Amino acid sequence: MIAPSHGATLTIDLGAIVANWRRLAAEANGLACAAVVKADAYGCGLARVAPALWAAGCRTFFVAHLGEAVAARALLPQATIYVLNGLLPGSGPVFTAHALRPVLGSHEEMREWAALGVASSRPLPAALHVDTGMNRLGLSVAEALALAGDPLVRQAGIDLLMTHLVSAELPAEAINARQAADFSRLRAALPGLPASFANSSGVFLGSPAHHDLLRPGYALFGGNPTPGSPNPMRPVVRLEATIVQVRTVSAGESAGYNGRWTADRPRRLATLSLGYADGYPRAASGRGTALVNGVPCPMVGLISMDLVILDVTDAPEPKRGDTAVLIGDGLDIDTVGRAAGTIGYEILTGLGSRYVRHYVTGPEA
Ligand SMILES: *Cc1c(COP(=O)(O)O)cnc(C)c1O
Repeated sequence: MIAPSHGATLTIDLGAIVANWRRLAAEANGLACAAVVKADAYGCGLARVAPALWAAGCRTFFVAHLGEAVAARALLPQATIYVLNGLLPGSGPVFTAHALRPVLGSHEEMREWAALGVASSRPLPAALHVDTGMNRLGLSVAEALALAGDPLVRQAGIDLLMTHLVSAELPAEAINARQAADFSRLRAALPGLPASFANSSGVFLGSPAHHDLLRPGYALFGGNPTPGSPNPMRPVVRLEATIVQVRTVSAGESAGYNGRWTADRPRRLATLSLGYADGYPRAASGRGTALVNGVPCPMVGLISMDLVILDVTDAPEPKRGDTAVLIGDGLDIDTVGRAAGTIGYEILTGLGSRYVRHYVTGPEA
């Protein structure tokens, strides 16, 4: 039952997140597994997710922004916390004040971080990001290979070597092997440094992709890291909305803004109290689905700001106050993403703040 004050309820299963974290480590034979908890833990709520993972034994966390890292530090006083977007000019004192580690991606960042280490009279820990194909963040492979024997590596406190996969979810792509080969050369040139290579999908590329520390995000939150194959992860997110009205329309009547849908025969329509302002993408108009009494019902017409219209003709007798399931019961975030012409990542990170949120702790294994 959804609180009458709210249109929709988001239920997040912390036990499933922990089970997924364990499952990913097990996939790599018990290797150390970090958690990527950027973007408010992929929309699932850092304040609840981070302590649950810490309690399960996770010790290393990655976020994108320094502000996210400061928030994570307040929740995780003992954890190792890396900031993926690196060291921005002038941000050094915030890193040191909260014992945070930048993921350094250029000589300039390395030198600035090394200078902060000198000021603190010892090198401060950081990761080194090498760009092996993304052309987004990190030193080029050539620049990183040239660091062999350079004291800057020690001065900048480098304690983790990492790169990011371009197409990990497409195992047949040749770039995976090229990135793996470059990463092996880097490791040989910079010996003694622990290394991190695999995001969620990378974990499933097998042992050459594992190295020392796994770095998954999406799969922790129930996303399928192996598209095209059954999802090995437990679902985490459940989204339910209230039916606020049910009506019958005759053949030829339209529904929603601009009359983009027209009934071909008499239809039962149910209006749900959730819309794009809740983070349910308008791009899923005419393509999304919700479950009513277990029956998949198509969305019709354009999704509005606060409302979605469902064709419930085939569902058994829905009535005002009933709930429809938008995510859950087998309707997963990857499917919702496809319906909206995007990926499940964007569905998760767009989960709105209007939902009433419930946290449950299902089995952790
Ligand atoms: C977001 C991110 C990850 C996690 O990727 P998933 O596909 O969500 O597992 C890992 N590493 C870097 C550098 C990232 O930006």
